[in-house]
Amino acid sequence: MNELTIKLKTGDEIKGVLTRSFKYQDTDLEVLTEENKETLVFSLDEICYIRFLSPPAGIGRGGRGTLEEVQTIAGETFQVTVPANGKFLKGFLGLLPGESNQTIFFTDSGVRYRQDARYTGQILHDQGLVSTDKLEAALKLQEEQAHRGDDAAILLADAVDEVDPHEAQRHEMHHARVGDILVESGLVTREQVEAAFKSQKGKKLQVGELLIMKGLITEEQLLSALATKFRLRFVDLETVIPSEAALGAISEGLATRLRVFPISLEGRKLVVATCAPTDLTIGDNLRFSTNFAPELVVAPSRQILAAIDKYYRNRVETVDTLLNAMKGEAESVTIEEEVDDTRLLFEPDSKIISLVNRILIDAYRRGASDIHFEPGAGNEPLNIRYRIDGECVHAHKVSASYKGAITVRIKIMADLNIAERRRPQSGKILLRYRQQMLEYRVEITPMVGGREGAVLRLLAASKPLPLAGLGLLSHNLERFIDILDKPHGIILCVGPTGSGKTTTLHSALGHINTQERKIWTAEDPVEITQAGLCQVQVNAKIGFNFAEALRSFLRADPDVIMIGEMRDAETSKIAIEASLTGHLVFSTLHTNSAPEAAVRLIEMGMDPFNFSDALLGILAQRLAKRLCAACRKPARDQRQRYDEVVAALRQIAGDREGVIPDFKEANFMKAVGCEECAGTGYKGRIALHELMVGTEKVKVAVRRGVGMDELRSIAMDEGMWTLKMDGLVKVLRGETDLEQILKVCM
Ligand SMILES: [Zn+2]
Repeated sequence: MNELTIKLKTGDEIKGVLTRSFKYQDTDLEVLTEENKETLVFSLDEICYIRFLSPPAGIGRGGRGTLEEVQTIAGETFQVTVPANGKFLKGFLGLLPGESNQTIFFTDSGVRYRQDARYTGQILHDQGLVSTDKLEAALKLQEEQAHRGDDAAILLADAVDEVDPHEAQRHEMHHARVGDILVESGLVTREQVEAAFKSQKGKKLQVGELLIMKGLITEEQLLSALATKFRLRFVDLETVIPSEAALGAISEGLATRLRVFPISLEGRKLVVATCAPTDLTIGDNLRFSTNFAPELVVAPSRQILAAIDKYYRNRVETVDTLLNAMKGEAESVTIEEEVDDTRLLFEPDSKIISLVNRILIDAYRRGASDIHFEPGAGNEPLNIRYRIDGECVHAHKVSASYKGAITVRIKIMADLNIAERRRPQSGKILLRYRQQMLEYRVEITPMVGGREGAVLRLLAASKPLPLAGLGLLSHNLERFIDILDKPHGIILCVGPTGSGKTTTLHSALGHINTQERKIWTAEDPVEITQAGLCQVQVNAKIGFNFAEALRSFLRADPDVIMIGEMRDAETSKIAIEASLTGHLVFSTLHTNSAPEAAVRLIEMGMDPFNFSDALLGILAQRLAKRLCAACRKPARDQRQRYDEVVAALRQIAGDREGVIPDFKEANFMKAVGCEECAGTGYKGRIALHELMVGTEKVKVAVRRGVGMDELRSIAMDEGMWTLKMDGLVKVLRGETDLEQILKVCM
């Protein structure tokens, strides 16, 4: 008769009789219950252990086995002999001591820990890792220490600081005392342990860590001793490739906090590497947070941290992992596309929340400036595209079933009305990512068929670049610094949207941002933050525009004022007047070239005398694609290309001096394409500049109200290089190629 008692994970006990034999590969068992005489099937996943009155067929008592201590997740601890042939697919057998022949089948997922009852030193010796001499010496030393009962033993007992003292008392010695294990295994002497511990008294460090710090043992030696003791596998993470499902089961945050790394997930079994096998709370924590049954394996902390870095931090496909994990469920979720009833709009579940978070972070990591959520009609999927380096690229595709939930999630994050689906809405999302606060400006636009598109502009609260990092040719850098050092006047940065004007102005402000200066900025939006600046976000909705901000600044004792944009005549007029009354004023304008900006302002009704007096300089700029530094290759026909560039420069600059670079400077490169740049050959962008300095001759020309061509010619006589000239020099230096320059400069 196969009488048994089943202990469920819930703590309930069921007595009964097996109705069919229990075999190695079984995942469930059928039992005729004693109480109700009914036949029930239990999955091994819901069982903690099964206690048999006599061992199941095929398991003899006589054979060799190891003595182990096993604790179940229900909290009971057993001393059992684990026979060599006692391993089953979903668990293992342990024989209870005594004549009763009682046998326990422990499910793998029901075990909190198991450990070999032998001394670690004995295990290492049995495995041939420690010599008999060394082991005997260590054991003798340990015995002497025990007889003396000195402080060292107490110190060592305290050394495992993560153990609850009550629990340690209850289970006596089963918590591995790291110091003892190391002494037992002959890796160090007790004196070394004691000395190491005394030198760190008062600090919460484990003896093992201390010994590693002191160079007496390696972490690998310590972990291999502990792994053996706790019957855990020791793995080399460098040779392991984690499964996508496992990575999806543990978040980066949890992995970092617990210092663990997930390896595989099969059914409910989640294999996870830890570097702290003595810390039983790790398994408990994983069981609780992931709802899977963790199987711990041991790996060095160095490898765990490297794996977290490799597979979470630098992974661009994290979003895909999550999407893959969600694929299976997609069919079961349905959202009514055309429904107006807000009761049907639900709070998105945690998967949607983490998916949206990951998309926002993924976009930031990939250097995107915008994220486009584009819901397809009907059952078409949701397309997510990123704008990177000025171009939209496909990023992710999400099953149609999640479209509504994702939009709702974005609205909730941006504090928008989730019930409003017919009008456009805008808001912003703040997201903490590591040490930074990321800001996204959200624009929700209703589309036909009840769909809503969302565009998120990423305003990474970035730090200003130093002036030298802007990529100004030295010719321009010197002249630019020269005008920045003037006490008052107006400096303009011009170019189309997305040409990097704000970046340049902030670098300029950074250059003059000193204790003695009061600097006000009015921006829309504030994209770059700088300590020492008083930055103000204008808000057109409530009538707080640039002109209003400017007037307010002038009453607030400024030295330097930055106005995000001179959008209208009123703002421009106040800005120019401010620069004439002892302030340094910075602003931007949407014009194509530096001379055009000057001409345009006069056309807008600015007083030519006032403006020319105030003018310090106008910097026009453009962004062009940069050749990927990882794969660009020198072009073979350097001479031929040099001649072409010189001819092009001559055509623009005529006979002006100092424009033609020497052939020795030629370093033409060409695009190749590699993994880094997604095969395009280009990565990131470079800025092209055109700096018109307000010299005496330029001022006179502005006052005279000359046309654009004449002003350009005069400015070039005064040392201005046009955008295209600047670009050609950068082609010659191998930063980009001619094709890209011709694209952005007419
Ligand atoms: Zn490349």
